[in-house]
Amino acid sequence: MRRNVDLSDISDGKLYGDNDMVKADCRGCAGCSDCCRGMGDTILLDPYDVWRLTTGLGKAFADFLDREIELGVADGCILPHMRMTGARESCAFLDGEGRCSVHALRPGICRLFPLGRYYENGAFQYFLQTGECSASRSKIKVSRWIDTPDQRRYREFVTAWHYLLIDAQNCMQKKQDDMFQKELNMLLLKTFFLTPYDGKTDFYGQFEKRKEDFYALTLGNCQKLCGDRDS
Ligand code: SF4
Ligand code: SF4
Repeated sequence: MRRNVDLSDISDGKLYGDNDMVKADCRGCAGCSDCCRGMGDTILLDPYDVWRLTTGLGKAFADFLDREIELGVADGCILPHMRMTGARESCAFLDGEGRCSVHALRPGICRLFPLGRYYENGAFQYFLQTGECSASRSKIKVSRWIDTPDQRRYREFVTAWHYLLIDAQNCMQKKQDDMFQKELNMLLLKTFFLTPYDGKTDFYGQFEKRKEDFYALTLGNCQKLCGDRDS
């Protein structure tokens, strides 16, 4: 989800790479679960998150739509996000003790928090959101905090997914055609979320193949018509 805010208003003004130390470690959260409640539609899921949850829990993506995940519109694209439920607007994966019941499989946004991603010139760095977590935090290496194997390939995937969505959004904006928007969104959902992933083979290879198919089927043609990416 893109936000039009001044970075200096919401962060400590610094940008961080995977090997930098950042004051993000809330040391087990000590009974707090604030960032798992009342988050609306902001905990967006990407294909890697869905691969992790579907293959880790042995459940089809469509079955999560009954309870834990819902679909919403983010910058013109229909994308899944964690569903907030009940009187306290809690994530459906939060257990009775206020702990994440899928900690090892938690989505990328949950792994990041209170860090955010800042994209520029086809790449991204992290920033520390200063108004989001009031716990006393200590310094930790960014890559350790994100707790995801093969950081290089993960970074390549996150970047590719971000710019694929921008390409799709630009394409839909330029066409201004409701039927085209609907079809592109259906293809996005089917290609990257509804079609089951194989838990026994490498995620990144599966994503690359789906990305190629998606560009070949839609965005390649659209970019010829609409011109190159402009943001
Ligand atoms: S708000 Fe901070 S301390 Fe509370 S659960 Fe989230 S990361 Fe942990
Ligand atoms: S998946 Fe886990 S960490 Fe993420 S919002 Fe839900 S309960 Fe919190």
